[in-house]
Amino acid sequence: MRDATASVHHPVIDESGYASLSVPTHRASTIVFPDAESYATRGSRDLDGFSYGLHGTPTQRVLEAQLTQLENGQRTVLLPSGQAAIAVVFLSVLMPGDHVLVPDTAYPPVIGFCRNYLEPRGIGWSVYPPGIAAGIDDHIRAQTKLIWMESPGSTTMEMEDVPAITGIARAKGILTGIDNTWATPLLFKPLDHGVDFSMQALTKYPGGHSDLLMGSVSVLDLALRKRLRDTMRMLGLGIAPDAVQLVLRGIETMAIRIAHVGKVAHEITTKLEARGVGEVLYPALASSPGHAIWKRDFSGASGVFSVVLPRRAEPRLDAALNGLRYFSIGASWGGTRSLIAPMSIKLSRTFEHTRNERVILRVNIGLEHPDDLREDLAIFFDTLLNEAVARTA
Ligand SMILES: *Cc1c(COP(=O)(O)O)cnc(C)c1O
Repeated sequence: MRDATASVHHPVIDESGYASLSVPTHRASTIVFPDAESYATRGSRDLDGFSYGLHGTPTQRVLEAQLTQLENGQRTVLLPSGQAAIAVVFLSVLMPGDHVLVPDTAYPPVIGFCRNYLEPRGIGWSVYPPGIAAGIDDHIRAQTKLIWMESPGSTTMEMEDVPAITGIARAKGILTGIDNTWATPLLFKPLDHGVDFSMQALTKYPGGHSDLLMGSVSVLDLALRKRLRDTMRMLGLGIAPDAVQLVLRGIETMAIRIAHVGKVAHEITTKLEARGVGEVLYPALASSPGHAIWKRDFSGASGVFSVVLPRRAEPRLDAALNGLRYFSIGASWGGTRSLIAPMSIKLSRTFEHTRNERVILRVNIGLEHPDDLREDLAIFFDTLLNEAVARTA
C-alpha cells in the first residue's frame, strides 16, 4: 500500500475492551457493502438498516430507539426541525382534495404552512376552537384525513381532550397527530391515548441547551412510519449525526430538568396569580380551564407558562423588559436559560377572544437559582404595574 492509499484507508483497530458511556457520532454519506450481492440488493434493506447517510447512521438509530421507548411507540423518525416534523406528517397523509383540521392554538407556522403551502396545492384546511373535545365532530368533513392537535396550545395553553378527539377520529377512519413539545413524552404519552403521530420539537427540552434544531415523530403503526420515511426520502430530508449526539447528551438530563422547572414554574405561577399581575395561563393551576384534563392525562407540568398583560401595563412593557437581569428576551424555550417573550397572537387566530388583542408574555423557566428568578420577576412586575416600591434584590 503506497502512502496516498494508506492516507485514505484507515487501519482497523481492535475495539475489544473498549466501552464508553457516550454514543459514538457516526458520520456518513456513503455506506459501503461487503460484497456485490449485498450492494445489488441494497434496495430491499429494511428501513431500520443502513443504505445511505441521508437515511441515518447508528447514531440516529440510537436516538430513534430511545424516543420510541419513551413514547411507548414502535418507531420514530427524526427531522431537521420541529416545523419540518409537522410538515412531513401533513405531507405523508394529505393528497389534493383532502382536508386537515388544525387547532386555533397551533404553533403559528403550522397555520402558515396550511395557508401558503397546502391550500395552493389543493389541500383543504380549517381551524377548530381549542378545548372542543367531542365537539370536533361538527368540524369533520367527508374529506378530512387528519386532525392535528397541540395540548396545551401555543401561548394561550388550552388543553385538548385528546382521548375524546382520537376516539371520534378512529371511528371515522381519520388519522390524528399531536404537537407534544410542551409536555414531552415524559409528562404525556400521546400514543397511549389513541394518537397516530406523536410529534415533538427536540429543539426544546430534549436538546435542552438552546443550541440545536430537530424534531421527531413517533408512531405505533409501521405503515405510517413507511409513509413518513418515503416522504422524507422524496424531499431529501436528513440530519447531521453531530446534532443528534447533542440531543443524546441533552436527553440524559431531561427528566431532572423538567421536574425542576415544572416545580419552579408552578411555585412562580401560583405567586403571580395571587399577586394579581394579570391572567396566568398554566394548566397546573387549579384555576386553569384545562386543569381537569391536565390532571387526568398528564403526569406533570413543564416550565413554560403565559401571562396576559393588563392593558394598563402595556406602556411600561419595554422598560420592564429592559430591566431584567436574569431572564433574557427571546422566543423558543426548553433550554437552561430563563426567557420572556412578548407575544401577539391576533394575526394567527381565527376565533374571536378578548385575549387576541392583548400582549401575552410567554415565560420559560430555566435552571438559574429560583430566588434570582423570583426577584427578577418581582421587579419586572413592579415596573409593569407601576408599584415601584423599593424592593431590594
Ligand atoms: C418550537 C416549537 C415548534 C417548532 O420547532 P422548531 O424546531 O423550532 O422548528 C413546534 N411546536 C411547538 C409547540 C414549539 O414550541
